[in-house]
Amino acid sequence: MSWKTIDDLALAGKTVLTRVDINVPMDGDVVTDTTRIDKIRPTVEDIIVRGGKVVLLAHFGRPKGKVVPEMSLRHVLPALEKSLGRKVDFVERPSRSVIDSLPFDSVVLVENTRFTPMEEANDPEMARFLASLGDVFCNDAFSAAHRAHASTEGIAHLLPSFAGRLMEEELRALEAALGNPQRPVVAVVGGAKVSTKLELLGNLVSKVDHLVIGGGMANTFLVAKGIDVGKSLAERDMAPIALDILTKAKAAGCTIHLPVDVVVAAAFKAGAENKVAAPNACPPDQMILDAGPATVAALTKVFESCKTLIWNGPLGAFEIAPFDAATSNAARVAAALTKAGKLVSVAGGGDTVSALNHAGVAADFTFISTAGGAFLEWMEGKVLPGVAALHG
Ligand code: ADP
Ligand code: MG
Repeated sequence: MSWKTIDDLALAGKTVLTRVDINVPMDGDVVTDTTRIDKIRPTVEDIIVRGGKVVLLAHFGRPKGKVVPEMSLRHVLPALEKSLGRKVDFVERPSRSVIDSLPFDSVVLVENTRFTPMEEANDPEMARFLASLGDVFCNDAFSAAHRAHASTEGIAHLLPSFAGRLMEEELRALEAALGNPQRPVVAVVGGAKVSTKLELLGNLVSKVDHLVIGGGMANTFLVAKGIDVGKSLAERDMAPIALDILTKAKAAGCTIHLPVDVVVAAAFKAGAENKVAAPNACPPDQMILDAGPATVAALTKVFESCKTLIWNGPLGAFEIAPFDAATSNAARVAAALTKAGKLVSVAGGGDTVSALNHAGVAADFTFISTAGGAFLEWMEGKVLPGVAALHG
């Protein structure tokens, strides 16, 4: 691959502008999930060990180009210092002389890049200003790489640039799963709607051997096949597009797997009375909320026949039991095959990651992408501007 890593540049004495994603969830002044902060640690340590000064560039929330005190990165300072085990100097108004005056073994954190509209506009003046603050640029924010902003894209054209450890890990895992994967490849695409994942489905049919369609979007495919799905979530106007995808898949030699049985209930409520039914036997006053056990058994066979799995979107309305069963059980099968060395498994997407955590198997997957939008756009086959700019 043509991008550089931390190992490819001499960093001693250099100020390394390091774009990270530390956009962590907060409850008042407390960071409720430090995952994103914890994940930048290898990059920070590796730069410092090589004699570089780490200057973190990051956004926080959606201040829409204005200074919003509640969205100051100042709030994440304590969690950052704790996770990195280092002093972090917060700089509200950065300048080269301020940054030069700070020591090499601490970390510098610059205020929210989105406090000016120039960031999201990818304004060349902002990129030039950011570039003037350091000597080299390290992008460790894969999850922000689908946006061409001054601190993710513009700056990379102005300084020698390289991928941080987390970015490197994401790119390698994704390349292994879709770029040049071990075949056969199965993709699982679930979730609520076809409309949000159209480009994804369209791209995947030409890349994978098996495409499993689950969740609410499977209902749309059932409708397209002339099946009445009662009160189920389905985008009836998308039926022609679903048929189109089926035709495209056939032409590309991709086998589509729809549910062979479903779980129906009158309401999406905890403890709602439910039963397993054939896909064409959803009562008119009920809705399909999950795939059934025969579907999971069929998926198990598909997973066993494949070497690579890529997964986005739950198979059912997993937030409420028992409609989490198909997602959890299929995830357990994938995790066990991965653990046995038989499958490379990569998953991503906000709800997908929480569904896999809920099933208790996230750690057994080969790779879980923490990037929501960037992961999806990458799966859609799009070029991520922040990654493209690293190719120099
Ligand atoms: P991700 O965030 O991983 O990309 P999505 O946001 O596309 O996933 O989809 C997740 C949502 O889909 C969940 O809220 C889940 O409840 C919903 N969903 C899945 N199956 C169904 C179904 N049969 N009926 C209604 N909602 C469903
Ligand atoms: Mg979601």
